[in-house]
Amino acid sequence: MFPQVRMRRLRSGKIRDMVRETSLSVDDLIYPMFVDENIDSPLAMSSMPGMSRLPVKMAADDAKEAADLGIPAVILFGIPSTKDEKGSSAWGEDDVVQRAVREIKNELGKDMYVITDVCLCEYTSHGHCGVVDMEHEQILNDPTLPLLGKTAVSHALAGADMVAPSGMMDGMISTIRDALDENNCKDVPIMSYAAKYSSAFYGPFREAADSGYSFGDRSSYQMDPANSDEAIREAELDILEGADVIMV
Ligand SMILES: [Zn+2]
Repeated sequence: MFPQVRMRRLRSGKIRDMVRETSLSVDDLIYPMFVDENIDSPLAMSSMPGMSRLPVKMAADDAKEAADLGIPAVILFGIPSTKDEKGSSAWGEDDVVQRAVREIKNELGKDMYVITDVCLCEYTSHGHCGVVDMEHEQILNDPTLPLLGKTAVSHALAGADMVAPSGMMDGMISTIRDALDENNCKDVPIMSYAAKYSSAFYGPFREAADSGYSFGDRSSYQMDPANSDEAIREAELDILEGADVIMV
C-alpha cells in the first residue's frame, strides 16, 4: 500500500502510452450500409446526416471507398422491394442483401470483411423482428428461429464473412450456429447483438432500415433499459450458445 505503491509512477512519459489498456483506430471500425432494392440513386436519410440508402449496384463502389480509407469491415442492412408477414425476402438467394454481399465480395474479396445483419424486421410487413400472431398481436419466438437460421445460411452462402443476428429472440444464436454448421459454413462466426434495449435511440435506425412497426413496440423482446444484470445474463447466454462476438 501507499507509500510503497504509487499508481502515478506509470503516468508520465513514454510509459504512459505503453500501458494504455484501450486504443481506438480505424482497425476497430465497421461501416454500416443500408442497401435498398427500390432505388436507383442514393437516398439521404434525414435522421442520420451524411448517410444514404444505396441501390445494390452502388454497394461495391461504396464499400471500396470505405476500404480505401482503411476501414476493414462493413455491416449490411437490406431494404427489400416486397414485404410480407413472414419476411420471405430475407432469405432468398437473389434477395437484396445476398446480392449486395456478392457484389462487394466479387469486387473486394478479402479486402473487405462483410458482416450481415440477420433479422426479419426489415422484411416483414408489420415491421417486427419475428413471426407475428396477428390476431393476438404477439411476436412468436420459436417459429421465428428457423427463419433466422435460413436467413443466416443464405447470407453465408452468398459470401458473408460473419452474420450478426439482432432480433433478441431466445435461442437465436444456437439455432443459427446449428444451421450454419449443417450447411457447411462452420467457419462463419456469429456476432450477437446480445443486449438490446427497447429504446427511442433506435429511431434513426428504423428510418434507415425502413423497419418501423405497424402495431405495439419491441418491448416484448428487447430489454427494459432499467436492467443491467439482465444484459450480463443475455451476453453470457449468447456466449454459451456459441456467439463468437457479442455486441452491447
Ligand atoms: Zn429486427
